[in-house]
Amino acid sequence: MKISSVCPYCGVGCGIELVIEDKKVVEVLPKKDHPVSLGKLCVKGATLDKAINSPDRLTHPLARKGERFERISWDAALATIAKRLNGIRQTYGNNAIGIFASTKCTNEENYLAQKFARVVIGTNNVDNSTRLCHAPTVYGLYGVFGSSAMTNSYEDLEQADCILIFGNNPAVSQPVAFERFLNCRKHGGKIAVIDVRKTKTAEKADLFIRINPNTDAALIAGMIKTIIREKLEDKKFIKKRTKGYDEFLKSLEKFDLRDVSRITGVKLESIQRIAVDYAKSDKAAIVLGMGITQHVNGMETVQALADLALITGNFGRPGTGINPLRGCNNVQGACDMGCLPNVYPGYASLTAENIKRFESLWRAKRLPVSKGLSLMEMIEGIPERILGLYVIGQNPLLSFPDTNRVRKNLENLQFLVVQDIFLTEAAQLADIVLPAACFAEKTGTITNSERRIQLVRKAVEPPGQAMEDWMIIKLLAKKMDHNFRYNSTEEVFDEIRKCVPTYSYVSYKKLSKAGLQWPCDKKHPMGKRILYDKDFGPKGNRAVFYPVSYIAPEALDHAYPLVLITHRILEHYNAGSMTRRVKALNKAKPQAFMSISKVDAKKLKIKDGERVKVISPFGEVKIKARISDRVSKGVVSMPNHYAEANANKLIPSILDPISKIPAYKYCNVKIEKIR
Ligand code: SF4
Repeated sequence: MKISSVCPYCGVGCGIELVIEDKKVVEVLPKKDHPVSLGKLCVKGATLDKAINSPDRLTHPLARKGERFERISWDAALATIAKRLNGIRQTYGNNAIGIFASTKCTNEENYLAQKFARVVIGTNNVDNSTRLCHAPTVYGLYGVFGSSAMTNSYEDLEQADCILIFGNNPAVSQPVAFERFLNCRKHGGKIAVIDVRKTKTAEKADLFIRINPNTDAALIAGMIKTIIREKLEDKKFIKKRTKGYDEFLKSLEKFDLRDVSRITGVKLESIQRIAVDYAKSDKAAIVLGMGITQHVNGMETVQALADLALITGNFGRPGTGINPLRGCNNVQGACDMGCLPNVYPGYASLTAENIKRFESLWRAKRLPVSKGLSLMEMIEGIPERILGLYVIGQNPLLSFPDTNRVRKNLENLQFLVVQDIFLTEAAQLADIVLPAACFAEKTGTITNSERRIQLVRKAVEPPGQAMEDWMIIKLLAKKMDHNFRYNSTEEVFDEIRKCVPTYSYVSYKKLSKAGLQWPCDKKHPMGKRILYDKDFGPKGNRAVFYPVSYIAPEALDHAYPLVLITHRILEHYNAGSMTRRVKALNKAKPQAFMSISKVDAKKLKIKDGERVKVISPFGEVKIKARISDRVSKGVVSMPNHYAEANANKLIPSILDPISKIPAYKYCNVKIEKIR
């Protein structure tokens, strides 16, 4: 028997078929004719059955007894959680509790997680791991267009004359989407890559420009200035469909092209070439990733990229737009569902009118009105402001910055619940651990990077007593005297349709074949492939130009003279809790490594393959050095999937002041030999 579903790893959303024998998933096959993946899968998707069937899966609720865990019943686990969370609420108030929702869970589960936070607990302290990857995109593009999603589709990008990939390495992070981008060459399209590292994507590009770390906004300003100087801007589009142009032009005055070249390390001719190539292309698309977003000024850089697309009128047509590729399967959906501390479902802001609407929809009294805390703010608020945390499908001990501090803070909580499919590093600190079902053991919807809402279908039963996340939340709400009356995820989805306007015309039936791309509403009952063809959504006809600002990275501390950049590799995913349990993937990439340039290796007398210590003001990691031309002088890089060489131990918890993303892509370090 074969059951159709969707790969649960990255945001591409490839179609898969789960082959079932003896009530087990025995193989995962690519789904032929799937509109996203066209019958392809990367190595992670193709080995999913090994992660699903891992003997390490959690099978029973666990309660901490001193240094150990012991199995307890579901009833006892939920009763303990209800009692402890209620105790904290009574003593310290509702806002002493935080909920971490998950980009790995379905829309229905995320919807219930935020409803649990708001209705049952009475707090807006709910956030999801988009905060760690694409929060600047969510905040930045929302300001420009009134929506933060990918404007176009993978299908469109195949039609582009020029794809500008900025700070993203889709050849390893979203490989099946990247293969589709390469199809643009069939009609003469070109791919240009701008990155600090010479990535696998850069190797396959027609043009690669290496840039100094965290100088992207300066380069974008230089490109825009070039386009204006060459009179390549789309004046008609600017006049008809944008506002804020004059102020934006003024913001460019402070950028001198020679300075831009010096700051970015990019030759003047290269700035000129890439700007002209992009502006002269009839259909030019921008693809961006975490190289752009994971900085303290990530939001401004995203807005500068939107300016670049606006000035050339690259919107509303195939092969154009601004396209953030998501790292996790349901980044888009978790945000659409309102798992954010400043908005309710459908990005409804915290106005009295919206709160009243949700009070009526949810038959709830006095929903919380003030903005809640973001993920890192909740961690930093322990123990003064936050005393209890309910963590669903996240592993802050590996994926958050400054993990030594995260551990200390989690240890200071009065009560920690972790709900996951494995006993992760964070779960090992919990008071109660709840065993969750994985994607193959549940039905629901997820929304990929190109806004495609797709069905995942239950193919097998969860192991032991593990349970679907939505069911766990429903039962916990019941223990806390709230009746979430849903008998299926389809019933949850019917409620989502009433709360999230862009999902209002979606139904499970309509999704059954190939999913639908939102907005799926009265105007577009079967969804929409390209945004902003006629107007700019909630912003009406006009998108907003934002002034370009560039803040130079802080001067390097002499004690820590190198810049560390974290990155992904093809074989592993996020904190590695699934992929590192797959033998074939672990065999292919068993060990973490630090890439260092020949020049720096020579200066530090480091040999290829030698183990070294990477030290930042926040921690140190022992790791094998790899001399490589992927990084230039002054830069080192490390993948972020390995618990035993956890790169995030080194990363400071400095946040972008608005989007609150940590600066994963700029960390001062020094390297020492291990004697
Ligand atoms: Fe899964 Fe992403 Fe690979 Fe597709 S590209 S198989 S969604 S990890």
